[in-house]
Amino acid sequence: MIDMHCHLDLFPDPEKVANDCKDRKLCILSVTTTPKAWIGTKNLAKGNQKIKTSLGFHPQLAHERCAELEVFDELLSKSEFIGEIGLDGGKKFQSHSKVQKHIFSHILRNVQKDGGRIMSIHSQHAATAVLNELKQYPDAGIPILHWFTGSASELKQAVSQGCWFSVGPAMLASQKGRELFLNMPHDRILTETDGPFAMVNNRPLMPWDVELVFSPIANLWQMDINVVKQKVISNFHKLLKVGRKNE
Ligand code: MN
Repeated sequence: MIDMHCHLDLFPDPEKVANDCKDRKLCILSVTTTPKAWIGTKNLAKGNQKIKTSLGFHPQLAHERCAELEVFDELLSKSEFIGEIGLDGGKKFQSHSKVQKHIFSHILRNVQKDGGRIMSIHSQHAATAVLNELKQYPDAGIPILHWFTGSASELKQAVSQGCWFSVGPAMLASQKGRELFLNMPHDRILTETDGPFAMVNNRPLMPWDVELVFSPIANLWQMDINVVKQKVISNFHKLLKVGRKNE
């Protein structure tokens, strides 16, 4: 199983979670929210090839952590994956849209210059703005829109721009999430939890709870659950093949 977006470093006992992931042979993209968190979070993945740690700069922290952009630039060449990056146009954050945009476009420009990466992207209340930004940097790599919550027309636009999508149990728990999901191309779907932020039944999702997403997908696609699992695995391998930076 594959959790393409979780915050390993933000669980109360990250080392225990990392060990449990190893026992369960889970593949994880362990995303960070600040550039400074990358090295410590990467250490959690020591001795486990199945955990990849991505260098991120969460848009909700853009205004507080602006000075860390330098750290991002220093670490960029060492990080095979990028995220969580993006824009957040929610009520609490819209007043910081300028600094968010500054950071997001700076990152995309430098990632493009450095050959492109697979990127996990936050686009809450800002899907159009994110897509416009991505359009400016067509060689920045492969954008994976995580937990997409935009409109149907924004989704169409995202598909036409080559975006991938990572979907989790929390997203498919809502009617709107399920409707969007049905319009996403099957061959660009990946699975995620967004734990510990995302919750199901009032508890934070653990990386292995990614299992919970397969039954709703199987229902929506009207496919056998094992076929769905195989499809996600083959998507994942395809993504690595087309999206990995050639060293
Ligand atoms: Mn997240």
